[in-house]
Amino acid sequence: MSKQVTIVGAGLVGSLLSIYLAKRGYKINIYERRADMRKITMSAGRSINLALSDRGWKGLEGVGIADEIKKIAIPMYGRFIHHKDSSTAYQPYGKDQQAIYSVSRAEINMRLMDLAEQQANVKIHFDKRCSNVNRNTGEVSFEDNNTHKTESVTSDLIFGSDGAFAASRLSMQLSTDRFEYNQHYIECGYKELNIPEGENNSFRMEKNALHIWPRGSFMMIALPNLEGNFTCTLFLPFEGEKSFSKLKTKEDVKKFFEEEFPDAVPLMPTYLEDFFHNPTSSLVTVKCWPWTFDNKIALIGDAAHAIVPFYGQGMNCGFEDCVVLNQLIDKHKEDWNKIMPEYQDLRKPDGDAIADLAVGNFIEMRDKTGDPKFLLQKKIEAKFSEKHPDKWIPLYSMVTYSPHIRYSYALKEGKHQQAIMDKIMAMPDIDKKWDSSEVEEKMLSYLKN
Ligand SMILES: Cc1cc2nc3c(=O)[nH]c(=O)nc-3n(C[C@H](O)[C@H](O)[C@H](O)COP(=O)(O)OP(=O)(O)OC[C@H]3O[C@@H](n4cnc5c(N)ncnc54)[C@H](O)[C@@H]3O)c2cc1C
Repeated sequence: MSKQVTIVGAGLVGSLLSIYLAKRGYKINIYERRADMRKITMSAGRSINLALSDRGWKGLEGVGIADEIKKIAIPMYGRFIHHKDSSTAYQPYGKDQQAIYSVSRAEINMRLMDLAEQQANVKIHFDKRCSNVNRNTGEVSFEDNNTHKTESVTSDLIFGSDGAFAASRLSMQLSTDRFEYNQHYIECGYKELNIPEGENNSFRMEKNALHIWPRGSFMMIALPNLEGNFTCTLFLPFEGEKSFSKLKTKEDVKKFFEEEFPDAVPLMPTYLEDFFHNPTSSLVTVKCWPWTFDNKIALIGDAAHAIVPFYGQGMNCGFEDCVVLNQLIDKHKEDWNKIMPEYQDLRKPDGDAIADLAVGNFIEMRDKTGDPKFLLQKKIEAKFSEKHPDKWIPLYSMVTYSPHIRYSYALKEGKHQQAIMDKIMAMPDIDKKWDSSEVEEKMLSYLKN
């Protein structure tokens, strides 16, 4: 008889995971706290766009649905930097046509749910909030949002994919001796704003780029949507001189935007209303251990490793969890006593690594993308990497375009590269001789040592 699986949460990862397991013949019930988002109107200010990159695509390709998702994705080939004096600069992300893809979170979630439900053996139950996972009995309890009645289900396997504030994880934390749990909020929060489409759904800024207004301790970004508008996200400290706490009145916000984002203001006719209407949300990193319990229950996606969004990897990492799990199912011929331990041993170092990389990339995005010295370093790395692709893959490319490279390796290698680049950037007149053979020789010799 086919194995019964309970998945908590029909978000991005839970929905994709269900497709992977369904294709192997498992019988899957997903329980989702929210109502079916395909049948309701989404609330404003929650229209996050996500950058989908190669690890994510690999996850989608693994079950043959990448082409479906490509239909709702816009390639972004580089960063479009908006300086405070309204001048702009374009920085390609990688070589040739390498791109990351803008997708609406709601849109991709709805497609994934559709694709999951196309599998005969997947059923999504909406309005069912998980209230407990019982390690001893293997029962998962759900409260119905409408009737407030609680029901319990048992199954052979349970996956907690209920996001950063997972109830499934909390249940494990409360019932597991020596459960490690760490959550860290960064000092910044975020708020969604909008640049509406132009006439006939035209884009009022470069369509195929991720726009960044780097301002040192804060930044705004904008990602394109299919309708021609851009979803903007303002990342700003909660407290301090330039912070949400200082933006109390319409005058405060107007002055702040006109000073900091003068070229964006004319494109954002409703920014004042949006600012006060849309919520200010916080950003958390969650690390925990273990991720699996009794070889029967596993945490996956944000439930196991919530990270801040600055490397654009949270979803990508969650999709990669599915890929690895799927490989292990093959490797261990469906023996979950072997799959579960190896899944967590393999993924935990990578989850931790991308969490740390993501925090580091905030500094890069908000601060360094406007810094000429940093840009010169990137230019030197790009040139060296083009000439010696076997010796140097830039960190951003390792994380974003190299799904065969583990995040933990990328983190380690990135630190090694930075140590070399610190020495290179300290060379006298580096800005004049950055593309000389002297610099190339130096890099080769540092690499040898
Ligand atoms: C501002 C922002 C920008 C981001 N940008 C990117 C990006 O560019 N690229 C990228 O890869 N990632 C990005 N991320 C991260 C990405 O959104 C997450 O990593 C991804 O959504 C994780 O998917 P998940 O399925 O694990 O969790 P979620 O997508 O959070 O899904 C969890 C699901 O579980 C449900 N649920 C929660 N509690 C319960 C319960 N008790 N019972 C039943 N169901 C429950 C929720 O309703 C939800 O449907 C961003 C995140 C933020 C906040």
